[in-house]
Amino acid sequence: MSPVNIQTACVHAGTIMDEKTGGVNTPIYTSTSFEYLDSKDIIYPRYFNIVNEEAVARKISELEHGEAGLIFSSGMAAVSSILFALLQNGDHAIFQKGLYGGTFNMVTREIEKYGISYDITPDNEIASFEKLIRPNTKLIYIETPSNPLLLITDIKRVASLAKERKLVSVIDNTFASPVNQIPIDLGIDIVLHSATKYLGGHHDICAGAAVSTNEYIQKIRKTALSLGGSLNAWTCYMLERSIKTLAIRVKCQNENAQKLAEYLSGHPEVDRVYYPGLPGHPGHEIAAKQMSGFGGMMSFELKNADPVVFQKKLKLIRPVVSLGGIETIICSSVLTSHRHLTLEEREREGIRSNLLRLSVGIEDTSDLIHDLEQALKS
Ligand SMILES: *Cc1c(COP(=O)(O)O)cnc(C)c1O
Repeated sequence: MSPVNIQTACVHAGTIMDEKTGGVNTPIYTSTSFEYLDSKDIIYPRYFNIVNEEAVARKISELEHGEAGLIFSSGMAAVSSILFALLQNGDHAIFQKGLYGGTFNMVTREIEKYGISYDITPDNEIASFEKLIRPNTKLIYIETPSNPLLLITDIKRVASLAKERKLVSVIDNTFASPVNQIPIDLGIDIVLHSATKYLGGHHDICAGAAVSTNEYIQKIRKTALSLGGSLNAWTCYMLERSIKTLAIRVKCQNENAQKLAEYLSGHPEVDRVYYPGLPGHPGHEIAAKQMSGFGGMMSFELKNADPVVFQKKLKLIRPVVSLGGIETIICSSVLTSHRHLTLEEREREGIRSNLLRLSVGIEDTSDLIHDLEQALKS
């Protein structure tokens, strides 16, 4: 559907011409109140229809090969709007093992209040999804590569299972970004992002996105405007600007991450490295099939060092939450994204206390390796 190469689409897709001046960038429209008498629709930020929302929504939907998109004030606003738009009292949904912590909380602490039941797969095998389908199942939700263990789910097989059984398929494509993975081409119905991560890319934006067909996006929008998770024009523009460099950022992050994963997996003080670009990763073959790059995210377990002490010894790589920016950052999942899980829930998810998650930036890899080396040595 997208007519141009992704690197070109990142720069040009969705831009609204500045007709008044001929400027190259989409102007920032500051109003939240608009004349209505001669307008087809009421225009209002929370209705997701102001120019800056539409410009960046179109950009992301072109990158993801969808018909339409919506921009939200956070990734979780996208997750909640999609789930509450598509599920109702009495419905059942299937979620894959290895969800982002916030999504896991949403599923396990919120949706049952509204009469929605769910199951989480014990692993990411296709048979496990199939086994959990009930007569009232409406939706399958996956996240691949997953956070923080980089589990890989076969997108094409999940999408065709969902089609066969008339279920909606949803994917969280945050970790891969459309530069590395285009799930709609593999048959997925709805793609969502925490745009706070790679799409924003500079650790200075909190936003979310959903991309799908016109029909699904209209349905999600109807619920979303009641939930209220829209994004302001200024941040929409920041996001639009950031995405112009998405392809070159992510390509650099792919290369850097591969080098760091190889370095860490050969280090005597490192127990295990989770990176889909390593041939020993259990999802490597599927990842190689469905991804054009393996991404900038990885996790590893320390053999002897205390994870907190280790993080404090790092000089360039900072212990910071979140991911996907141009700075390389590190965090302990147990102390951050998965801190609300009980010990039992964490063990079931395979998240150990010595696990560190690395979000690889665009610095020179030799400087990054040098920093890791000095912290691992002492
Ligand atoms: C961060 C994240 C989210 C939530 O996004 P927010 O912008 O923090 O609301 C959802 N999914 C994944 C994979 C994430 O990393």
